[in-house]
Amino acid sequence: MTTRRPFVGGNWKMNTDRAGASALARGVVDGLVGLQGVDVAVFPPFPYLLTVASILRERGSSIRLGAQDASDQPDGALTGEVSLAMLRDCGVSVVLTGHSERRHVLGEGETIVHAKTRAALAADLECVLCVGEKLDEREAGRTNHVCEEQVRLGLREVPPEHVDRLTIAYEPVWAIGTGRTASPADAQDAQRHIRGVLADLYGNDAASRIRIMYGGSVKASNARELFAQADVDGGLIGGASLKATEFVAIVKAAAGVGAKAATL
Ligand code: PEP
Repeated sequence: MTTRRPFVGGNWKMNTDRAGASALARGVVDGLVGLQGVDVAVFPPFPYLLTVASILRERGSSIRLGAQDASDQPDGALTGEVSLAMLRDCGVSVVLTGHSERRHVLGEGETIVHAKTRAALAADLECVLCVGEKLDEREAGRTNHVCEEQVRLGLREVPPEHVDRLTIAYEPVWAIGTGRTASPADAQDAQRHIRGVLADLYGNDAASRIRIMYGGSVKASNARELFAQADVDGGLIGGASLKATEFVAIVKAAAGVGAKAATL
């Protein structure tokens, strides 16, 4: 029977310094020693990837190293960009695409999100494609429509053989970094709809295997209830991932909930 192991990611965004990133990585690794049944990734800022990679390696940790962004281009005259091959060279195995701050603060449109998602998966990396509605879209009853469009556009021309490396993060924009969290029922409704879209694109079996995380002001105190929902397979954590004890508690909540059986 298909089951989905929970997956929890810590998105450090443009936070920490070298000493702080090292201390945070050590705290997370030490706090999770021996914990099973959950996949974990951390997404440090680019300049600290190698530092965090060496901490994970020297402690024999299974925590994956993630990148918050990547270019869709292989190389060339693109000042400031970082390629997927460079990231892999630094030990990265998973990449975020379509994060709401890149879409709505930094102006990345669907064309770029799509190109990055397709390129990351084609490069044999795991990809977490983030989708979610803005507050006015939720209030206008357009949540499912917006998420569906972002999933369909982000995954255009992504072949079925690549989607086993795909995770979707449902992150309502109004809940990111605001302290406001979607109710567990609202998260479940949106994520159920997203799974239906994945089933339409790739069939029930594939859609049953793809993990869908929730993100948006997840804390240790609300994690368990969110992760317990049938289509919530862990979380993408921003602010609360910057404190090792808090992030460790969130990961333990996901492990406590355990794997989800396919419901399609
Ligand atoms: C995020 O950055 O993806 C996020 C969900 O942030 P926060 O947990 O701070 O809302």
